[in-house]
Amino acid sequence: MKKLLFTLLAAVPVLFASCTNQFNATYLLSGGMKAAQALSLSDEQIQSYVGQYVQQLDAQNPVLPETSPYVKRLRNMTRGITQVDGIPLNFKVYKTDDVNAFACADGSVRIYSGLMDVMTDDELLGVVGHEIGHVALKHTKKQFKQALLTSAVRDALVSAGGYVATLSASELGSLGEALAGASFSRKQENQADDFGYDFLKAAGRNPWAMAMAFEKLERLSRGSDTGDTPAAQSSAAAGIFSSHPDTATRIQRMSDRATADGYKKPVK
Ligand SMILES: [Zn+2]
Repeated sequence: MKKLLFTLLAAVPVLFASCTNQFNATYLLSGGMKAAQALSLSDEQIQSYVGQYVQQLDAQNPVLPETSPYVKRLRNMTRGITQVDGIPLNFKVYKTDDVNAFACADGSVRIYSGLMDVMTDDELLGVVGHEIGHVALKHTKKQFKQALLTSAVRDALVSAGGYVATLSASELGSLGEALAGASFSRKQENQADDFGYDFLKAAGRNPWAMAMAFEKLERLSRGSDTGDTPAAQSSAAAGIFSSHPDTATRIQRMSDRATADGYKKPVK
């Protein structure tokens, strides 16, 4: 019984990382909020830091070239999707077996090839819709700002008495650590799910793909227990989706919406 409970807890995924993963609220409250009151950054300044951070991520990860079948597939799928809420979008694929995707406040969307390996086009678009939902709803911006102010960047800003144009490698590293410890609230995840659902509908796709993408991720995160998933995939999925207690609820919400809208669940 204990093992089952542990399995259930370990298996519940946080669906999709952002620029960030899981947030340490205590740290934020102890340092970040005070700093946020003491320092003010303009939107442009925050976006400049997001840009520098994404540039570093792209330099550190294996970005697939335009000639890659993964990139061609993504370009086909996202043709015509150029902006969200006035924020220009740019898409890249990282070649890694991890099952992950994230978006940043500057409109950068990064998809891992491991996610593309396991998702249909519609499911992948659902994930993209969810991620750009976090951008459109300003979740990513809020989270990035909080991470700025809980990392060493805060000290740099304080000692400079304001904005510092260029972040050093170590400041970007510290920022990355703060972001790696961040996550969105359940409410924000639900809002992004709804955004992804509406995004699929607007694209003329069957929005059941939202629930089905989540079901797939949940199965993957349980893979190590059932033995029906390659170990690398299952552990990667379990790692990303490690702490949200409401996956089943999210699947249900998305299924209920699709049912209420009269869509038929695709048979696979
Ligand atoms: Zn999310």
